[in-house]
Amino acid sequence: MRSHCVYLAFGSVLLVTCLAKEIDTKQFYFGHKVIRVFPATQAHLNVLVTLQNQFNNEALDFWTQTLLEGAPVDIRLSPVNSYENITALLTSYGIEFRVQIPNLQSVIDQQNGNQRGKRETSSWFDRYHSLDEIFSQLRETAALNKERVRIFTFGKSYEGRQLFGVEIQTTPQDAKPLVFINCGIHAREWVTPATCMYLIHQLTSQYQDDVTVQEVLNRVDVVIMPVFNVDGYVYTWKKDRMWRKNRSLNPGSKCVGTDLNRNWGFGWGETGASGHPCSEIYHGRAAMSEREVQSVANFLQSQGHRLVGYLDIHSYSQILMFPWGYTKRRNKDYEELMRVGQAAVDAIKTRGGDNTSYTLGQASDIMYLESGTTKDYIYGHLNVRYAFSMELRDTGKYGFLLPSHLIEPTAKEAFEGIKAIILNMKLND
Ligand SMILES: [Zn+2]
Repeated sequence: MRSHCVYLAFGSVLLVTCLAKEIDTKQFYFGHKVIRVFPATQAHLNVLVTLQNQFNNEALDFWTQTLLEGAPVDIRLSPVNSYENITALLTSYGIEFRVQIPNLQSVIDQQNGNQRGKRETSSWFDRYHSLDEIFSQLRETAALNKERVRIFTFGKSYEGRQLFGVEIQTTPQDAKPLVFINCGIHAREWVTPATCMYLIHQLTSQYQDDVTVQEVLNRVDVVIMPVFNVDGYVYTWKKDRMWRKNRSLNPGSKCVGTDLNRNWGFGWGETGASGHPCSEIYHGRAAMSEREVQSVANFLQSQGHRLVGYLDIHSYSQILMFPWGYTKRRNKDYEELMRVGQAAVDAIKTRGGDNTSYTLGQASDIMYLESGTTKDYIYGHLNVRYAFSMELRDTGKYGFLLPSHLIEPTAKEAFEGIKAIILNMKLND
């Protein structure tokens, strides 16, 4: 057993959080709680920002990144040290909170139980799938649709796994403008790889029957990468359901992993990322230091002007947002991105089937600042105007542990939104 402690002083309150964890044992969350915190003032936000930057995720883990006055933020707290200390701290600052999930392990067990109960069902989307299952499904889809679907690899992950994607195009001999969509950059956001697989399924199986799918694929080619953070995703299945970052080792630190959505080389290392390797939003030792980021960036750069649209899919919060994330400065394409984004949000609500509401806006208006993100790099460095990121369902009832029967409705409405983005983009100016 190894242990180490984090000491943090807030005025008169000293927080001490000691960690003891055997390397490579399965992580359980018995007694962990997710609380919903309601910061009302800038002083409240400052307390939360300090907590997020300084603490190890084993004790304290931010599930949402909003951090705006008046907007709720969800935080997981461990039962030992953390829950009592942190809630005492919040109370001492007059920050309101309530318990959202009283025992996290029981919700994880529920999701696993749903999984076991669904193995014989007819739809592939009735349950979550392991990385091996996802990749074998990708290969099968490519084999069945040879004329329109090409499976390829961007490179390899830190632990040596292939980074697979598929390209869907109706006229392979005549490349169209390209839209790139990735899911699973954060390992625990399981509904996102499932959603990318749903997009692939719809775009390949519905081309003959669905007019809007034809319109989309007559307009653009689409590359979809269902699992960006393959090592992290495998880790969530085998060791720790709540893992977020990749699995690269950090020299000089016991803490593993870099946040692959803070590592990109545009605005890297500014406000909204952490230089502390134990933080969930650790930006890595240098911009573009992570193998997964380099591999995908090389591909995107190689596409040049062909790349016209980009979508990075996350969960949860039901948000559609666009650059900038790292600065409050207004995006020069703000009006156009609001127009296209509004079409998507409307499509999700009216055609998605469940009347689901998404919040739309510039990321830095609706979230806390976040630097080194995919969308800022692709918009700011690669000059791709239509760069969005999306946070899927829900708004916190289950958070990352969305029950498997909600995979298909979540993916279906997201697909409506994505089609609306593609069909509303202006391609010629
Ligand atoms: Zn995410």
